[in-house]
Formats: sequence, structure tokens, C-alpha cells
Amino acid sequence: MHNKTITELAQGLRAKEFSSVELTQHFLNRVKQHADLNAYITVTEDLALQAAQVADTRIATGNAELLTGIPMAHKDIFCTQDVKTTCGSKMLDNFIAPYNATVVEKLNAAGAVNLGKLNMDEFAMGSSNETSFYGTVKNPWNKNAVAGGSSGGSAAAVAAQLAVCVTGTDTGGSIRQPAAFCGITGIKPTYGRVSRFGMIAYASSLDQGGSMARSAEDCAILLQSMAGFDAKDSTSVDAPVPDYCADLNKPLAGLKIGLPKEFFTTDLNADMAATLETAINEYKKLGAEIKDVSMPNLKYAIPAYYVIASAECSSNLSRYDGVRFGYRCENPVDLEDLYTRSRGEAFGKEVKRRILMGTYALSAGYYDAYYLKAQQVRRLISDDFKKALNEVDVIFSPVTPTPAFNIGEKIANPIEMYLADIYTIAINLAGLPAMSIPAGFINSLPVGLQLIGNYFDEARLLNIAHTYQNQTDWHKKSPL
Ligand code: GLN
Repeated sequence: MHNKTITELAQGLRAKEFSSVELTQHFLNRVKQHADLNAYITVTEDLALQAAQVADTRIATGNAELLTGIPMAHKDIFCTQDVKTTCGSKMLDNFIAPYNATVVEKLNAAGAVNLGKLNMDEFAMGSSNETSFYGTVKNPWNKNAVAGGSSGGSAAAVAAQLAVCVTGTDTGGSIRQPAAFCGITGIKPTYGRVSRFGMIAYASSLDQGGSMARSAEDCAILLQSMAGFDAKDSTSVDAPVPDYCADLNKPLAGLKIGLPKEFFTTDLNADMAATLETAINEYKKLGAEIKDVSMPNLKYAIPAYYVIASAECSSNLSRYDGVRFGYRCENPVDLEDLYTRSRGEAFGKEVKRRILMGTYALSAGYYDAYYLKAQQVRRLISDDFKKALNEVDVIFSPVTPTPAFNIGEKIANPIEMYLADIYTIAINLAGLPAMSIPAGFINSLPVGLQLIGNYFDEARLLNIAHTYQNQTDWHKKSPL
């Protein structure tokens, strides 16, 4: 049952081959069986079985949607009412969310069964899931390797088939990079497409929720239920959501694919270059035209991102003061002591590093030199994409410089860790949609191909990904 797609499972449920309760129980058993991967922070067994029962009734009465009765799970950054929501931090280890994130609300309304909350880097800061207060997630393909981050639990859960599909969030690559490391498919939609209400803030001008699953088709189905305007999120875009499944099989003849020459240099790992070359040839066979594009400002993406993301997080995380919610230190002597010890004791090293960097970049005297400059660079990067996407329909690139690295390999060297997102970060600065799809293996570990589209072109990206997946079976490989 666990290696079926959403559509196949929906058919099975309707044909009464199995019930949602049985399906949910099957996935709950798998979650227990593979607990060593550490993909879940919280498993909501009772709630899941109750939801499955409701779904079964709904299916029996014929008013079900595709996702009704399908076992899924949420990144622990999405608030789930009456359920612990930690964001991977000791700061929120005692936090029971009083309301649902809009995304959770929408998926509950669709009848999806939530199995629990998935592990992640603390406050989504990281590229390896090693900054989580709840421990590192293991890569199901090789347990010595990282699953990627920050949505590492999400990616590992899908790869190990501990959920049919999952939510993730992407501020600088956190859907795409772990998807690539775990051999699954993930889409980061256009900024504003999916509501951020109830999605714990890291860097608000970059954060965007999206879907992760084994195939582009499943990502499309999940995204369909997540996307759309939300009056509770002031940056949510009020534009109709197209039918993401309608054009999945549209022929690709005449599709113009751009290859950024700044990415395809001799610096690119030779195995990675060969894998991408094979994928590009597959697209040529499908009738696509390949064109070089140039984006000279991409090289400034990492420094610009780390100034902007840190600045925004230093402001967003000021709400964790030990007063209103979250961790509070024992016996504070005065207010100052309460603030400093609560924050000092509950935030991890990487989160503190970002807050310090961000506070510095925003302080009087440095604001112009760092924050303002980074915002100017951000505009140049967006303009590079705009220009390139005037010439081509979609841009191809690697997702990561290498396959998953080993646990412990980069955690002591933050700069090296930051470089893991070199191919994904610029896209968040521009606010564009992008996908990661499995494209092969290097040293028995999966690697991905990144597709970057124009604003609100998610349907096109899903079509381009799905057509490739009709021709290849990388996305069907399973580690267990
Ligand atoms: N690795 C990047 C960071 O630590 C991106 C994380 C993300 O997308 N949430 O900021």
C-alpha cells in the first residue's frame, strides 16, 4: 500500500480494497518500524485514526476529494491546533498551538489524515537537519548521510514511505535541497501563492510553504489544496489557483530551456554535470530547445541572502522572550535575567549566530553597508531572472553541488554549510517558483534536477516535471 500514488490510493479507497483506517494504521506501523530515521518529532496516532474514520464515512457517502483519507504529515513549522508545534527548537518544546495554520486547515478540510509533525532544522535554519533540538534525521538511502534541511524530516518521511505526501517550507532551499538528497520531488511555489498564516516565521520575505511527494503528480494534488489567497496573510496573493493537474501531460515540443552559464562551469562536480546532461538529453528527445542564459549576479546570492534572512530572523525571533509562550528559564531574578536566560538556554547555536548577524546588519551605522546593500543586490538578482525568463520558458540547474554529505561533515563549518544552498537560494530572493525532481544517483545516493519557472507558473513546472517522470523512473526508486 505504501508505494502507491495519491490517485491509486484514492481509487483503492473508493473501491473498498482498503479503508482509510487500515491505510493509516499501515503507515503508523511503518513510522514505528523506521523510528531510527528520526523523521517525526510527534506522531498523532489517535487523532490520525479518528480522522481516518471520518474520511471513511465521507468516502462512503460519496463526498470525498482526492486527498480524503490519505495519510500525510506536516513539517513541524505549521501550527496544529492542540498538538505540540516545536519548529525543531527547545524554545517551543512545550508549545501547544492554539490554532491551525491555514495550510493545515485547508488540508484538514480536504480530509487528508495527518500522521504527525516532522523533524526539521531549528526554526528552519540549516541545510542538514543537524540543528534540530530533536536530533539529526538520517537519510533513508544511507543512514550515515544527512537527509538535508531544513525540511529533512519531510523528505526522509516521503523517501522511506512513512507518509504519502508532506508539507515543507523553503526560505533558501529547504524543500528542494532535502528533496534532492532523499530522491523525492518537491515544489517551492511563487512567494505569496501559499498562505504563511500559522507557519512559524523565519525570514518572512523569503519563507514559502510547498508540497513534497514522490512524484510531480502527487505534488500537484497536494499543492492544489494548499494554495490560494488568505486574508490572514498580508503577502498572500489574490489570484485564482489554476488546476495543477489539468496540464500535466501537455506535450513539451518547443519548450525553451535555459541553462545559466554561471552554474554550468568547470566548478560543477563532474558526476553532477553528467547526470544533468542525461536529463537535458531526455528533454531534447521530448522536443525541448536548449539555450544558454547568463545571470551574472547569481554569485552574490549567498552573501545577500544571509544578510537579509538573518536580519529578518533577528526581528521575527524577538517574540520568544520567555514571557508570553515557549521556554522560560527557572527562577529569573529580574526581567533582564528572564529575557537573557530564557533565550540563552533555549535557542541553539545556529539560531543564535543568525540573530547576532542580523542584529549587527540592522544596527545604526551598518544598516546601509549591509542590509540596504543586500536589498539592492536582491533586486539585481531578480532582474537577472526576469531577463533570462524573457528568453526561455524554464531554467534548469543543479539543486545541490553534491549528493547528501555525511552527518557531522559540515556542521562545524557554517560557511561550508551555507554553500550547500548555492543553487537554490537566489530563487527565494527573486520569489520565483522552483522544483526539485530526482534525476539519478551518484555513489548510490540520489541527486536532483532543479526547474525554475516564471511567477505563478507552477502548473508549467509540474507539467515539465511530470512529463520527465513519465519517461524515467528515478522517482520510483525506493531505499527500503
Ligand atoms: N539553508 C538555508 C538556511 O539555513 C535555507 C533554509 C530554508 O530554506 N529554510 O537559511
